[in-house]
Amino acid sequence: MFKKILIANRGEIALRVQRACRELGIATVAVHSTADADAMHVRLADESVCIGPPLARDSYLNMPAIISAALITGAEAIHPGYGFLSENADFADMVEAHKLVFIGPSAQHIRMMGDKITAKTTMLELGVPLVPGSPGELATLDEAYAVAERIKYPVLIKAAAGGGGRGMKVAQNRAALEAAFREARAEAGAAFGNNAVYMEKYLDKPRHIELQILADTHGNVVHFGERDCSLQRRHQKVLEEAGSPAITTAQRDALGVVVTDALKKIGYRNAGTLEFLYQDEQFSFIEMNTRLQVEHPISEMISRMDLVHEQIRIAAGEALGYEQSDIELSGHAIECRIAAEDPETFAPCPGLVSVYHPPGGLGVRVDSALYAGYRVPPHYDSLIAKLITFGKTRDEAIARMKRALREFVIQGIKTTIPLHQRILENPEFIAGDYTIHWLEKFVGQEH
Ligand code: ADP
Repeated sequence: MFKKILIANRGEIALRVQRACRELGIATVAVHSTADADAMHVRLADESVCIGPPLARDSYLNMPAIISAALITGAEAIHPGYGFLSENADFADMVEAHKLVFIGPSAQHIRMMGDKITAKTTMLELGVPLVPGSPGELATLDEAYAVAERIKYPVLIKAAAGGGGRGMKVAQNRAALEAAFREARAEAGAAFGNNAVYMEKYLDKPRHIELQILADTHGNVVHFGERDCSLQRRHQKVLEEAGSPAITTAQRDALGVVVTDALKKIGYRNAGTLEFLYQDEQFSFIEMNTRLQVEHPISEMISRMDLVHEQIRIAAGEALGYEQSDIELSGHAIECRIAAEDPETFAPCPGLVSVYHPPGGLGVRVDSALYAGYRVPPHYDSLIAKLITFGKTRDEAIARMKRALREFVIQGIKTTIPLHQRILENPEFIAGDYTIHWLEKFVGQEH
């Protein structure tokens, strides 16, 4: 096992990984920008290294600075968290070139899944069902017209290098395709430096269902059930549930077999998530994330497993030591992503947190790096806390979430707590009756 790990991230996820390290008896090294000198992840780490100025590209994305910090402090492995360098294959290569361990999959698998066209072709060959669409990149508008005629409008143009919902444009009909094609390419080029796009049928009422997996380096692959992440705004997740109110245990088990078999065949290792759209009783693969996800805690709650412990053990070469039949999923968990944003306009709202009182009690988990007197910097993602509740049933998890949201006090900045409170009161949400388009309509109606 490692003696010291560097955590190449900030905020709640840096703390989350630190907690796992401490429980495993591993010392931690925090890295931080000058804007984060007072951050909780720095205060609680055993050691810390300043890696650059506030802008992420100069600090949290500064690969040489992070590698140097690991070498100087004698860390043996690097945990990238999510975002930043977590899905950067060049970084994974660089880590290994310096005889350090990257706590995640191989650079080869990060590259394979980072290009969504390659990811889809690979999954198709492995027998995983896909959303109907173009077999590969759409090089010309004529090709786009041809595929759209075949799969029928509406269609979605997506960026091969996509992430965070960027470079995605819907065309409802032929007249709208040219603009969607050009805009998606331009946005993809600007955001990812790669303007390759592909096409998928635009599904009108899917749910976003994803499967959490873990794979060790001894050929074992297991899954931890599904998460329903259909409540999204601008293709970004807002509230997640495990399990999904829409699918049965038999459906979960069947999907689990397809997914774990596929990952065994390619020799995948460490944590990963396969994302699917689910509509008309069909699962269609859309992408794989080769890292820990923001919403991983809800899978931990229903499985009583620490996924970060497992990631670290796998990276150290240990075998899982359990099989699929040993993983017992029970109860229900919900996560509300709380952002420093205006709950009506979603404008970012960084600033000084004057009062901070997190909720507690049975079945409540708060993953956050906030404290009273902390100034939320304007340079990074607006996620400031994840509130997770667990219950024996979905109704219990909802009731617990409502009372936890009532208890949560964050003053000085605006947060999206009121938005979550409105969602939790809604009869359609309570009935579990929603698709990926539900939240945008709900938010629209509120204005
Ligand atoms: P990104 O990597 O940018 O997050 P994804 O492929 O994961 O992109 O898609 C993000 C979200 O966009 C999905 O969760 C879903 O809500 C929506 N989406 C993606 N593909 C489709 C599709 N074919 N039809 C309808 N909605 C889609």
